[in-house]
Amino acid sequence: MLTAYNYQEFLSSSFLKKESNKTNRDIMDSVKKIIDDIQDKGDRALLGYIEKFDGVIPENLLVSREERKAAWKLVDTKTITALRNAAENIKSFHQKQLQNSRIMQQDENIYAGQLYRPIERVGIYVPGGTASYPSSVLMNAIPAVLAGVENVSMATPVRNGQPINPVLLVAADIVGVHNIYKVGGVQAIAAFAYGTETIPSVDKIVGPGNAYVAAAKALVYGDVGIDMIAGPSEVAIVADESANASYVAADLIAQAEHDPSARAILFSLSAELIDRVNDELKNQCSVLPREEIATEALNVNGASVLVSDIDQAFELCNAVAPEHLEIQTERPLECLGKVKHAGSVFLGHYTPEALGDYYAGPNHVLPTSGTAKFSSGLSVDDFIKKTTFLYYSEAALKDASEDVMQLAKQEQLEGHSRAIEKRIK
Ligand code: NAD
Repeated sequence: MLTAYNYQEFLSSSFLKKESNKTNRDIMDSVKKIIDDIQDKGDRALLGYIEKFDGVIPENLLVSREERKAAWKLVDTKTITALRNAAENIKSFHQKQLQNSRIMQQDENIYAGQLYRPIERVGIYVPGGTASYPSSVLMNAIPAVLAGVENVSMATPVRNGQPINPVLLVAADIVGVHNIYKVGGVQAIAAFAYGTETIPSVDKIVGPGNAYVAAAKALVYGDVGIDMIAGPSEVAIVADESANASYVAADLIAQAEHDPSARAILFSLSAELIDRVNDELKNQCSVLPREEIATEALNVNGASVLVSDIDQAFELCNAVAPEHLEIQTERPLECLGKVKHAGSVFLGHYTPEALGDYYAGPNHVLPTSGTAKFSSGLSVDDFIKKTTFLYYSEAALKDASEDVMQLAKQEQLEGHSRAIEKRIK
């Protein structure tokens, strides 16, 4: 099931090649047209695209208070409890990411520092084309609300006039989302970026989505902020002889069932473990509701790499910079220092990625396609801007004046130099 590689073969495999986002480029023109139309014509174009892509135009795009209240009666208590518990864990983890504004340099005549201020208006995209993701509501909204964002709006598609999934509405209430709009895809991103008569614009758009959503986010970036351009999901597992083949296979499948393009890579110190994992994959996939998707992903984008030691495993794993990294070894904590690039790390035999996807606390919006080499998962920081400030007394300015004027002269900006000179005379 998993394509077998050794160390050398893996080094020259497609897993380590930078993928230019070709799919996005192919659809860019059509996505740009939708965005331009909505920017020009507002609601008229927005409603047209909702009808075209999602079948029916909802009576009201904004979910009413009554709809939100009614949703609570449609969701079972067990789900509400699970959502509340997950929200508490995620809040408690993200709370510790908050920072206070601070003075960083201070003496009698000079002080300088940083103000931490929240973004005012954020739009969260919650995908809804083929499945519904309440966990996306929690993971995207909680850090925004904790950061102090004044207005957190959410957009999610409804297909063919069906009601919006009540679990999404309950999750949104639990975490304090202000407005929810029944619109998805490119049209949602365009409306958030430029505003329409019904949907006010926001300053930053976050949240995952399909290739059209990703392309739209890339196109509006600059006019608004975005969190990242997410590619297909991926997991890498580093496993030694202590790993349980059935757990390893279950976690590879959990990734593969997302999408046929999802990647699942096993770095194993044991050839026997690889054989057992392949057997398990066959057995477990055969009784999986999303068998077809998972099997395709594992056959096309699944890999097993036999490595000679743990350092070789981490050398290759760091080269992949996986979105999710599971370390299923005897002493996983001792391996943590070997991790250079990964979105999020799951340690030991009893910490499956699924725990982090939904519940434990760390965020599940993570850098994909090797971008963990230069970026991080979603956090409170994504909703905060840092504004620096500076104060100099007259005496301090005098002390610095000669150097500053000299540098201004080097850049041939005489006006800069005179702005200092005028004050020290
Ligand atoms: P989606 O909400 O992203 O997309 C649905 C929308 O796509 C529709 O409303 C429609 O407007 C638009 N669309 C469909 N065909 C189109 C076309 N030809 N042209 C323009 N627009 C079109 O839902 P989805 O399709 O189910 O995709 C969700 C994605 O999000 C999946 O890839 C899933 O793996 C991913 N996801 C990622 C995370 C994460 O945290 N990384 C979490 C949840 C979901």
